[in-house]
Amino acid sequence: MNSTNLQIDQFQTLKNSIVNVNFIKHASFFFEVNNYVIYVDPVDEATDFSKLPKADLVLYTHDHYDHLCRKALKDILTERTEVIGTLEVETALKDTGAKHIKVLKNGEKAEISTSAAEISVLAVPAYNTTQTQFHPKGRDNGYILTIDGMKFYIPGDCEDMPELADYKGLDVAFLPVNQPYTMTIDQCVNAVKMMQPKVFFPIHYGDTDTNELMEKLNAIEGIEIRLRNM
Ligand code: ZN
Ligand code: ZN
Repeated sequence: MNSTNLQIDQFQTLKNSIVNVNFIKHASFFFEVNNYVIYVDPVDEATDFSKLPKADLVLYTHDHYDHLCRKALKDILTERTEVIGTLEVETALKDTGAKHIKVLKNGEKAEISTSAAEISVLAVPAYNTTQTQFHPKGRDNGYILTIDGMKFYIPGDCEDMPELADYKGLDVAFLPVNQPYTMTIDQCVNAVKMMQPKVFFPIHYGDTDTNELMEKLNAIEGIEIRLRNM
C-alpha cells in the first residue's frame, strides 16, 4: 500500500483503535482507522493518488487549488465515497463522479456511519482577516474530526482566530503557517497556545523559515511539536 514513502504518525484511541496519520504534501494528508480512510484536502502536487488507498470519506476545507484537485479525487473515489465540504466545494466537484457530497456550514455536524470506528465531523470557522484577506469569515470550514473519542483539529486556511480558544481537549492539531496566504509564525504560536493540543503539527508552511518556526513552537510548555515534510 505504502509505495509512495509517506510519513506516518500513529495514535492510539481510548478504545484502543489505532489511527494512522499519513502526511502527503502541503495541506493534504489522510487518516486510516481499521481500514477506513479519511482524506483531507487531497491534491496531487507531489504524489500519484492512484497508488494510495481509496477514500471512504474526503473532507475539503475550501475550493482553492492547493486544497481541491479534481484529478486527485477521481483517483481515490469509489461508488461509496462520502465527501464533506462547503458550497464552493460542491460546485467545484460537479461532474467528478462524486455521488455523496454533503455541505456543512460552520457549526454543523455529521455523524459518519461505519463499523470501523465512531466518527463525527464538526465544521468550524476558518478565516483570516488581519494580515491577509484571502479567506473571509463564514465561507470556509475547519473541522474537528473525532475518531473513537480522539479529537483532531483540521484547520483550513486561517489565523489565530478567537474561536480556537473554545476547542478544549484536542489531542492533535494542525495549522497552516505561510504568508501571504495564512498566518505568520507569531500568529501560529499564539494559536497553538490558545488551543493547547497534546500534539501539534505545522502544515502548509511553504517557504516559512522552519528553524525559526520550530524554535518558537518548542518554547511553548507542555505541547509536543512534530514537524513533517509538508
Ligand atoms: Zn486558501
Ligand atoms: Zn491554502
